[in-house]
Amino acid sequence: MTRIWNFSAGPAVLPLVVLEQVRDELLDWHGRGMSIIEVSHRGKDFTAVIQEAEADLRELLSIPPNYRVLFLHGGASAQFAMVPINLLRGGTRADYLTTGSWSQKAAEEASRFCQVNIAADTGSGSEQEVRFTRVPRAEELKLADDAAFTHLCTNETIQGVEWLDLPPAITDRAAPLVADMSSHILSRPMDVSRYGVIYAGAQKNIGPAGVTLVIVRDDLIGQPMPGMPRMYDYRVHAENDSMVNTPCTFAIYVAGLVFKWLKRLGGLSAIEAHNIAKAECLYRTIDESAFYINRVEPEARSRMNVSFFLADPALDAVFIDEAQAAGISFIKGHKSFGGMRASMYNAMPLEGAHALAEFMRDFERKHG
Ligand SMILES: *Cc1c(COP(=O)(O)O)cnc(C)c1O
Repeated sequence: MTRIWNFSAGPAVLPLVVLEQVRDELLDWHGRGMSIIEVSHRGKDFTAVIQEAEADLRELLSIPPNYRVLFLHGGASAQFAMVPINLLRGGTRADYLTTGSWSQKAAEEASRFCQVNIAADTGSGSEQEVRFTRVPRAEELKLADDAAFTHLCTNETIQGVEWLDLPPAITDRAAPLVADMSSHILSRPMDVSRYGVIYAGAQKNIGPAGVTLVIVRDDLIGQPMPGMPRMYDYRVHAENDSMVNTPCTFAIYVAGLVFKWLKRLGGLSAIEAHNIAKAECLYRTIDESAFYINRVEPEARSRMNVSFFLADPALDAVFIDEAQAAGISFIKGHKSFGGMRASMYNAMPLEGAHALAEFMRDFERKHG
């Protein structure tokens, strides 16, 4: 068996030891003579699995007791609607910071429910290459006094732009802060208490597709917009311990194993050091060469999703083919953005980043 270096943006690489454990337990989970995905979600076995997953996640992220952890359906995309439905609480306006495709999509969806104030937009330039290459500066923010909440995407998966720090103008305001952390949650320690809501689709840095993690502060639960479906009400999910209907048991089970893997590695500070090493390796390779280009400002460069362009786009297809032949897969950039993208989530080993960097230097020697 040969495992490729999987740079897919999502669904994405999972830790090998977790996959091996899933394989080993698939026919007979803990001596039960069946797998954990063949039993009732309300039975004591699966209840223990979901409770342990939550406890481990709480420990990893130091989630304060006044926050609820929900395991939902619908992906991060459903949260684009669920956030305004639950957080407007009678308000009519919300602040959205656009730093890439996903925050833009979130703002578009929110405009179905309220007035969206685009408090900052780093994508308004006309040229593709200079759009979404940074996070907004504090003095650019045009926050609305009457905003019910502030929404941002802390890591833009497509452009490769990450908020490595947040300005006090955002974190210190009374309006709750909402973050789409789909593509970098658990990649480093995060101060959950700064946020009203954190949400993330699982398929990037948590586990298989199918479950969406929502971490929501107690006081924000319970005043949804009238007339909305029950499934879009955080309170309904909180009161039913994420078991209003059948949750995605497989994804929750595997996510729980990923949380245990992270704890064994030493938690989020340890994985952060690992992620910094991988990102530095790749950005150094790009910066040392005129053959590869990344225009994201250094302080906003994503550690998870490294987007880059070949100076000569005529070589794009050859690059992708030769990468594939070298065991490097899914390196092509998002179709809306072009170029290349190497997604290096927690489960990508450092050797994977080294292999890609080496391939890039070889490719440049051959074609440069
Ligand atoms: C992938 C992604 C989404 C969409 O997630 P789904 O679970 O497919 O709805 C939203 N936001 C970010 C930042 C993402 O990376």
